[in-house]
Amino acid sequence: MSAPETQRPHRRDTATGVSAPGPVRDARAPIDAAPVAGDGDDPDRAFAASAQSAAAIAAPTAGLTRVPRWPYAWAVWIPLSQFAVLGLWLAWDWRVGLAALLASHASILVPVFLPRARVYAPVLARLPTAAREVWLTIDDGPSDDTCAMLDLLDRHAAKATFFLVGARAQARPDLVREIVRRGHGIGNHSHTHPQAWFWALGPRRMRAEIEMAQTVLTGLAGRAPRWFRSVVGMTNPFVAAPLRTHGLTRVAWSARGFDAVRADPQGLVAAVERDLAPGAIVLLHEGARHGRNVAMIAALLARLDALGYRSVLPDADAPDVSADERAGPPGEGTAAPAAEARAAR
Ligand SMILES: [Zn+2]
Repeated sequence: MSAPETQRPHRRDTATGVSAPGPVRDARAPIDAAPVAGDGDDPDRAFAASAQSAAAIAAPTAGLTRVPRWPYAWAVWIPLSQFAVLGLWLAWDWRVGLAALLASHASILVPVFLPRARVYAPVLARLPTAAREVWLTIDDGPSDDTCAMLDLLDRHAAKATFFLVGARAQARPDLVREIVRRGHGIGNHSHTHPQAWFWALGPRRMRAEIEMAQTVLTGLAGRAPRWFRSVVGMTNPFVAAPLRTHGLTRVAWSARGFDAVRADPQGLVAAVERDLAPGAIVLLHEGARHGRNVAMIAALLARLDALGYRSVLPDADAPDVSADERAGPPGEGTAAPAAEARAAR
């Protein structure tokens, strides 16, 4: 299922001077045959034809894209399902009708609370790779933990994507710029993080949450995020339309340690390790009230090193490096990230 491992270019980390392995941006061609199903969108493919250098990058980019193609499909199948229930009720008897009614309502409601359910929007839940690589995703920042986490990541030559809350980013713009400057990715994690009610937000409020964060983060990072993480992993019928508008791919996870509520580094490592596999998407948090997120990521990074796992960014999440940062040793392909960033739009 997974593409063969290929030689990956190493990229010089300008912040640390460490020669870090580059993001998973090499041409792992049959990526569309990956086990992560879900519908994709292909605006990237048009760009791919425009430049040969970009073509090698844009193909895997398209393979990871999960922009909703039919954001209003639910407006068709939900009414149809209720007509079917009515038909059963009339054709058989009330017991069959009631059972069908309950089952249909469960099929409408339950997926809202399942982070990997694709009923209301497609989702990327792991990276299609056979290599010992993981994608670290850190939610809820920026926070007081951000700087310490960036130092830790540098020390381990690890990259991560920070799923930021728009209003928190607005309050601490320097932290957002520092994340980008150090070569990490930025994702959209709503504007105000309404965790108690995210599942129940109506269309206007949902769109506002996603669009305001997208506007703020684009302004601060200098490029539009292409990843979105639902608050508490919940996705109701109104998430897909703004994701489509902004070309956002919803990202779930395949490994987690409940570090937003639990404060035990060894517990986090053990929980993540249970679900660790090539291409795992690891859910982490920063700024939790217990104040142990930095210690937890430190323990996890040490364990990943010991297990031989590298923490990488998926295609097109690579930073759009500035001109002075491109002045690395020749042959490193440092123009690629800019092409990727364009291809992602
Ligand atoms: Zn969150």
